Amino acid sequence: MKVLFLGSGTSTGVPVIGCDCAVCRSDNPRNKRLRASVLVSTETTSILVDSCPDLRQQALRYHLTTIDAVVYTHEHLDHTTGFDDMRAFCWRRSDRLPLYAGTSCLAHLRRMFAWAFSEQNTYQGYIRPDAHDHAGHPFVVGDIEVTPVRVLHATVETYGYVFRSGGCSFGYVPDIKELPAESFPLLCGLDVLAMDGLTTQEHHTHLSVRDNVALMQQLAPHRGFLTHCGHKVDYAEVSRLLPDFIAPAYDGLELQV
Ligand SMILES: [Zn+2]
Ligand SMILES: [Zn+2]
Ligand SMILES: [Zn+2]
Repeated sequence: MKVLFLGSGTSTGVPVIGCDCAVCRSDNPRNKRLRASVLVSTETTSILVDSCPDLRQQALRYHLTTIDAVVYTHEHLDHTTGFDDMRAFCWRRSDRLPLYAGTSCLAHLRRMFAWAFSEQNTYQGYIRPDAHDHAGHPFVVGDIEVTPVRVLHATVETYGYVFRSGGCSFGYVPDIKELPAESFPLLCGLDVLAMDGLTTQEHHTHLSVRDNVALMQQLAPHRGFLTHCGHKVDYAEVSRLLPDFIAPAYDGLELQV
């Protein structure tokens, strides 16, 4: 299984508009972060996680021309508003584009992009989603098994996901403040786990870097990554402080899981 980080940034991206802090002014390409999204793929299957507002730029940068499905973590705008750019992934297919989300996120997408979900939408080449409410239950896309993992984040229903193929596992949890006890076993002992590491200070809806490390130590993946990082996270500085098995993700990071 391959994982490509299309974006490793929080909702503002980094640099932040109008900010002249050291990270926003940094020359280090690893401090330039598009909004959070990953592509999980095997030889035969590719899954996009979230359609962030930078999707167009990400697709062009990483030569992404087709996907087999899109999976949503939650309805926040930094994870959904690139929806319209998925048109390009429909031009080369005759059937509908499989879309998986939890109940709340799917209701939000149906409201926000009503025309795409409408019965009247038969226009070939526009986004015609084949929508599935996974309601927290595992599902399969091609040769990838996908397990939703319920997490607590702000006030919206939010999921992380575990992707499994060929005996390997990748967990992706970009937005989380707390992991409920019943979700804990689902994220334990994975090969790779990428999880929210928004900032160096306490935050009311996200894990800080310190929170991330504490939770990673309990979950004990083989390798851990911080993602959904903001402009308080300087790549080099935070890298030095992290335990050996954890590193900050960065845009363009590609992992062979
Ligand atoms: Zn977010
Ligand atoms: Zn800044
Ligand atoms: Zn969010």
